[in-house]
Amino acid sequence: MISIPELYAFYRQHPHVQTDSRKLQPGEIFFALKGPHFNGHQFVADALEKGASYVVVDQPEAVLNDRCLLVADTLRALQLLARHHRMQQNIPFLAIGGSNGKTTTKELIRAVLSTTYQAYATPGNWNNHIGIPLTLLAMPPETNIAIIEMGANHIGEMMQYCDIVNPTHGLVTNIGKDHLEGFGSIEGVKKAYNELFDYLRITRGTAFVCQDDTEMMSLSEGIPYRYTYGASPEARVSGTVVQADPFLQVQVRLDGEEILIHTRLIGRYNFQNIMAAIAVGLYWGVPIHQIQAGIAGYIPQNNRSQLVEKDGNTYILDAYNANPSSMKAAIENFAALNAEKKILLLGAMKELGAASESEHRELIRLISQYPWHLVALAGEEFAGISHPYLYFPDAVSLCNWWKSQHITGAHVLVKGSRSLAMEEVIS
Ligand code: ATP
Ligand code: MG
Repeated sequence: MISIPELYAFYRQHPHVQTDSRKLQPGEIFFALKGPHFNGHQFVADALEKGASYVVVDQPEAVLNDRCLLVADTLRALQLLARHHRMQQNIPFLAIGGSNGKTTTKELIRAVLSTTYQAYATPGNWNNHIGIPLTLLAMPPETNIAIIEMGANHIGEMMQYCDIVNPTHGLVTNIGKDHLEGFGSIEGVKKAYNELFDYLRITRGTAFVCQDDTEMMSLSEGIPYRYTYGASPEARVSGTVVQADPFLQVQVRLDGEEILIHTRLIGRYNFQNIMAAIAVGLYWGVPIHQIQAGIAGYIPQNNRSQLVEKDGNTYILDAYNANPSSMKAAIENFAALNAEKKILLLGAMKELGAASESEHRELIRLISQYPWHLVALAGEEFAGISHPYLYFPDAVSLCNWWKSQHITGAHVLVKGSRSLAMEEVIS
């Protein structure tokens, strides 16, 4: 068996790591991981043939030649290798956790910091026990600030991630009803994200905290340095929404001056994400005109609050994911939008465990508070609840129905959990 420092020496020679043998490029180190549906050890020969520099395995029988490196546990080795690599970097690491808006906030912060620094941030949504180590191991050597997204779905996970990433700074976007299946309740969610604050308390780190969120303020007490943002005038960086239809415009007060920040983001819930990025930029000394440029240049992708004009309709494509908190934020924001003909095309919310039925009932109650031109719901979660809306057992039938309708001149909110792929309505 080889040790982590030995493995690190191999990584320094071949600093590219791959866990998917189908995507493997010559020279990369292949880690044979085991998941519920696959075992990477089946692809060791394939990886060697494709030119892997080394293959890391934890099954002795998978050692086919001297390019195969045996460790006790490949996943743990990947995490410890990433941790070891991070420990060689004397730069700030900002960890981003929270129920909603992590990727958006991370991308805004990347846009702001990249104007002034060699900023590196989590690629895409690599925010779990495999994605986080891969993020660290893919960091370019010239990086001088790193932003790491952490997505937890059970208690204890954030602390494990902190142990790998050793963040010097932290930000929890918000505490909402996400992954209730794993967290049990909102109290569980709070406990989970408080682990990042615990880490910062122990290591005497810095947190960026939304001053408007009283819960977040009390949860983050005791962190040696808190840099606050929000609408509250007491916040270190304070701002207001001056326009929200469709794109948000935010004004911040800086040294007695009012600064206008234009964005390409829709939804009032993005205000906090924008303020977080402004605060992080100011904290690290990014000039305000660069912060303005960074935020104005960020256009959301991947179905996260995207505005799409298609076939005579205006779509708010928020189909990347959904949980009770983000659903509520998106619907309330859409209801406040100034438009004549508003349509909801909503898919069910997954991973809610025992709370699923009550949360879908609550969603129906929320929808019924507003006048809509049309509402269509997809997913069996809605089947047992009585409601006056159009119902489809699955997203595919909803999409097919929508395409057959040829409705125009409408504003359409499209949202649902990832597995429903509600974006298909405009494909
Ligand atoms: P994931 O846990 O899947 O990684 P995430 O936390 O990275 O999600 P984003 O991908 O940034 O979140 O945003 C997903 C959706 O969450 C958005 O499209 C929007 O509907 C909602 N959302 C974003 N920011 C907020 C917020 N501050 N409050 C409530 N909902 C939000
Ligand atoms: Mg994300």
